[in-house]
Amino acid sequence: DAKAKGRSRVSLYRPEMAAAVEQKIMTEKALRQALARGEFELAFQPQICARTGSVLAAEALLRWNHPTEGMRLPGSFIAVAEESSLMVDIGDWVIDAAAATLQRWRAAGMTQRLTFNVSPRQLERPDFFKRLRETLAHTCAPPWLLELEFTESLAMKCDEAALCELAALREEGASVAIDDFGSGYSNLSRLNDMPLDRIKLDQGLVQGVDVSDGARTIVSAVIHLIHGLGCEAVAEGVERTEQRDVLRAIGCDLLQGFAFAEPMGEAEFVAWIGDHMLPPARLPRIA
Ligand code: C2E
Ligand code: MG
Ligand code: MG
Ligand code: MG
Repeated sequence: DAKAKGRSRVSLYRPEMAAAVEQKIMTEKALRQALARGEFELAFQPQICARTGSVLAAEALLRWNHPTEGMRLPGSFIAVAEESSLMVDIGDWVIDAAAATLQRWRAAGMTQRLTFNVSPRQLERPDFFKRLRETLAHTCAPPWLLELEFTESLAMKCDEAALCELAALREEGASVAIDDFGSGYSNLSRLNDMPLDRIKLDQGLVQGVDVSDGARTIVSAVIHLIHGLGCEAVAEGVERTEQRDVLRAIGCDLLQGFAFAEPMGEAEFVAWIGDHMLPPARLPRIA
């Protein structure tokens, strides 16, 4: 009797769980197909020099151009990819695409740095750096225009071998950035041991910088910390001109966000760069 009840209770939950698992399996399958069919794209969002207004870099952001659902953002599929080896294959695709892009930009005389996001799954793989080097060699993409972005939590997990590889890559000219800084927990002394060029302030930190004295104080102190570590500070999620102006005044080096441009397809980005090549009188002088 009790046994029967127990069993019926379990079976109540079963359809839901089965549906979730099925959904996950379907997404995985769809992602594999998307990879095979070439449905992934990169979008590019400019990073602007806070002092001069010139476009110094672009972040490559993954997009899935779904045949029926339109352009899908990473938030809707990356988590599923991260749970399997798919993220490694997608990450490989991103590296190939980024290197090919850099090579095209270089041929077109563009000098913007291209920064891309590295997943924990990719770093777990022992041949990650070897493959990255091979890709750069094959495509003749200039390593000094490439930047790797690691989230704060991934950076904290880098082992000695990974740190050595990163240092070697930096010797060849590539740069390394910490992404989403201030959204999690960082071991600050560990940050000092990392071979780093830039630290990106999380959008959550940047949010209130123009409306709250507290937020401004925190961001200002964090920028000092970043400079003290010998790195440049990059603000992401800059949506308002007021945020832009505060960030410039407190010494942030690079700005990224909708206030300047949303992520764009490659052709659109190249055209956008063309429009922003002129002496950048767009930003008001810092008082
Ligand atoms: P992220 O690396 O921190 O990228 C910044 C995200 O903020 C992007 O979202 C970008 O479109 C968005 N953003 C830019 N400016 C603004 C703004 O002014 N306001 C607001 N509210 N948002 C802004 P996106 O493209 O949806 O990517 C989300 C996340 O997905 C990325 O966060 C990154 O963690 C991950 N991701 C994207 N591409 C890749 C990739 O190629 N590989 C891996 N492993 N992760 C990726
Ligand atoms: Mg990023
Ligand atoms: Mg970020
Ligand atoms: Mg983020």
